[in-house]
Order: sequence, then C-alpha cells, then structure tokens
Amino acid sequence: MIRVVSEQSAEVWERLGTYRERYPIDHLLEQVDSLERSIQRREGRHHAIRRRLDDLERQVAAAAAELDAVGKEIAGSRTAGALLIEDILDRVRQENDERWSPTPFRGFRVWRIESGAIWGNQMCWPEPRLESRCLRSVPGDDIPHSLLRCGPPACGVYAVKDLEFFPAGVAGCEMRNMAIGVVTLAGKVVEHELGYRAQRASVVALAIHSGRRRVVTDRASEIEALFRAPVDAITRLENKGVSSPDEARAFLERSQKEDTWT
Ligand SMILES: [Zn+2]
Repeated sequence: MIRVVSEQSAEVWERLGTYRERYPIDHLLEQVDSLERSIQRREGRHHAIRRRLDDLERQVAAAAAELDAVGKEIAGSRTAGALLIEDILDRVRQENDERWSPTPFRGFRVWRIESGAIWGNQMCWPEPRLESRCLRSVPGDDIPHSLLRCGPPACGVYAVKDLEFFPAGVAGCEMRNMAIGVVTLAGKVVEHELGYRAQRASVVALAIHSGRRRVVTDRASEIEALFRAPVDAITRLENKGVSSPDEARAFLERSQKEDTWT
C-alpha cells in the first residue's frame, strides 16, 4: 500500500476540527495551537518567497530576451561594419595602387657560392626558398614592412625586374662561384621601380658558374640539390657543351617570362 504522508497528516488536522466542534477539548490543545500559529507564520513567508521567485523568473526571462536582442544587434552592426570597412580598404588599396595577382611575380636574384653553401646578400639559403623575416617585426606583422617603417635596407626578399640591373658579366653568369636565378615572389610583394621586396621567394631557374663548370636548370629536383649541396650537385649536373654566357642569359630571361600556369 502506498500512503502519502502529507495527505495523511492533512487528514489528521481536519479530523481535529471535527473533534473540536464535537467535544470541549481546547484545554488539551495548547501545544497544537502554538504549533499552528508557527505554521501560519511560515506559510506567510512561504507565500512571500513564492512571489519573489515568480518575480525573479519573470526577470530572468526578460533578461534572456534582452540578451538575445542585443546579441542580434551586435551581429548586425558587425556585418554593417564589415561592409563599411571593405569599402574603406578598397579605397585605400586603390589610392596606394595595391593589386591582387593570381600568379606570382618573377624576378632575378644573384647568390654567391661560399663554404659549400649558397648565400644571398645577408644570409645562407639552405634550400631554394626563403620566407622574409625582419629584426624589427613582432609576430603577426605584415612583412615586408613599408619603407617608412623599416630599413634601410627595408626587409623582404629582394629581386630585380631586369638582368640589366646587374653589372656586366653577372647576367650571363660569367663570374665564378656565383649563381644567378629566377625566383617567384609570393605573399605580400612590394613593387619598386627596378625590383620587388617579397614576403616569400622560391627559385624556379638557376645558372651557376663554379669556375670550370656551368650548370643551367629549371628542374625543381636539381635546383633543390644545388641549394642543399652545391659543390656535389655542380659536379653531377654539369651541362657539357651547353650554355655559353649568352645561352645562360637567354634561358634566364625565358624563365622569367613564363607564368606558373605554363
Ligand atoms: Zn621590416
């Protein structure tokens, strides 16, 4: 049998009422009367707490609705702001002649071969690619920096537009222990009158003259080998009977004109 205690106790309190009407028993009920007064006080409090709770529930619901509405307002403003910012950035880009290029730029660079490695102007290139770094930069910086923020010389991997930029003899790779090549420039590329400063550069064609040997290549695996161990690779890859200075120069100029889709 299941009996709910509260119902049972309510029934007893009801029965007491009946007995009170039926018999003069008030003198027995001093303790019960005191208990009942105390119960009534607490029922009053219970009711008040219930009302407070209802009130709080209404406040919570109102706050949740307000939270939702303000969240939607923020999202709307962000979207409107993004459109506004795009407009402003478009204008800044046009005023500063910034353009987006689907293909990397190609420029010329020279390196020297020294101590069994290939060196740029300031640092060793252990592989045929380089990501620009700047001593003045903090993480997340837009590299290369503008000329106003950096240098001289300003940061970036440098390349020139024309072989004529180099002294006579360099363009045809006639100098010993030097390499001249074509690099693709990617990421942020700052264009100057005679050349570029780029965030990233990769070598796509290379001509090397080590003194007795001459190597000319645009094969990725050979370029990789030449940068990793130039002395060994030059011996292995020597182009016998090819590449006079004029041929080397023509090869490099052809490589520069190719784009990445061919
Ligand atoms: Zn810099």
